[in-house]
Amino acid sequence: MEDTKSQGKKMLESAQALIRRTAENMKLDEDTIRRLIEPEFFHEASLTVTMDDGKKKVFKSWRAQHNSALGPYKGGVRFHPETVRDEVQALATLMSIKCAVAGLPYGGGKGGIAIDPKKHSKAEIERVSRMFVKKMVNVIGENLDVPAPDVNTNAEIISWMVDEYQNIKGYKSPASFTGKPVSMGGSLGRTEATGRGGVFVLQALVEKLSKEKLKTVAVQGFGNVGYFFAKLAHEVGFKVVAVSDSRGGVYDEKGLDPVAVKEFKKKGGQVSDYPGKKVTNEELLSLPVDILVPAALENVLHEKNASKVRAKVVFEMANGPLTQEAYEYLSKNNIIVVPDVLANSGGVTVSYLEWVQGKAGYWWSEEEVNSRLKETMVRAFEAIWKKSVAEKIPMKQAAFEVAIEKIVSAMV
Ligand code: GLU
Repeated sequence: MEDTKSQGKKMLESAQALIRRTAENMKLDEDTIRRLIEPEFFHEASLTVTMDDGKKKVFKSWRAQHNSALGPYKGGVRFHPETVRDEVQALATLMSIKCAVAGLPYGGGKGGIAIDPKKHSKAEIERVSRMFVKKMVNVIGENLDVPAPDVNTNAEIISWMVDEYQNIKGYKSPASFTGKPVSMGGSLGRTEATGRGGVFVLQALVEKLSKEKLKTVAVQGFGNVGYFFAKLAHEVGFKVVAVSDSRGGVYDEKGLDPVAVKEFKKKGGQVSDYPGKKVTNEELLSLPVDILVPAALENVLHEKNASKVRAKVVFEMANGPLTQEAYEYLSKNNIIVVPDVLANSGGVTVSYLEWVQGKAGYWWSEEEVNSRLKETMVRAFEAIWKKSVAEKIPMKQAAFEVAIEKIVSAMV
């Protein structure tokens, strides 16, 4: 527990340090810096829920609302046994930056419930999801704070949450949550959006670095983000040589078809048992690939293993997969780090498109959604790339500068 707490604290400290450093470079005054660092609200609720055996169990939960200068708070809700308060605050902070980077009219929010979904039945998870909404009902809403899926949450969980919200309110509110099932007013393309957006950014980067011949990819994480990233990267011609889930992975230098690995897993197989060379999650990080994609949890690259990275590009599809030390080490060694606030902003971008469609009561085709996603991702990438080249600063710093400029100019 202590370790988990200190991991959360570490993540929060590095997000705040980055904001402080960027803001100081930009010569912002101390009060403005504090407004960029402190969350505007922090809601904490103990969820008491009846289990299938009739016993009651308590789960801690949080919703952090970081900064609303640009619009309502926006961000996912994660279910994870090791989720802690500081981590939720750090993730909400990153959402403020991410939404600004993507040019969305949102502030940053994030929710978390300390629960291990693998240890609970579907009915128990449904009751926990509904209880979270019961407790948070007055602090969320389409113009206030719009939750979405995150680690271990999906369209089904969001369907319970939005149903609970609408039952309590007594009216329909399709824009109060995003990541809903399409049948309930969700957007086409939302499920794949984070992965697809990441691949658009990767393609744009590869174009800029055409001399480097970036081709091989290793992806850590085979959930919604990692799987779709791997699948779509493979489809557009990258060679995905390794994938892994929480239990380990597989490496094949000839290349893997992520869809076939997924099929294998669906039939009850372990990703690590897929034909190829078995690798641990730790080994995957040091494979000889061009592009390393941490797409699972935070802090997986840290001061002890950063020096083992052999990739030319580290592409952050998870939120906060690098500790501050790892980030500094990689940047110093000329390994390009594509920051999470850009790389994985495709999810919240299509959430925004879902919100717009929900408010308007008019839905777009998948092609329309994907082309708007592409436009947004490429525009965000170009702005950061341009700044990074012009000022000779890493992309992460450029992204924070771009975002902070936008947030500060909207602060009154
Ligand atoms: N949880 C995702 C993220 O970290 C998506 C958030 C959203 O769609 O609001 O970006």
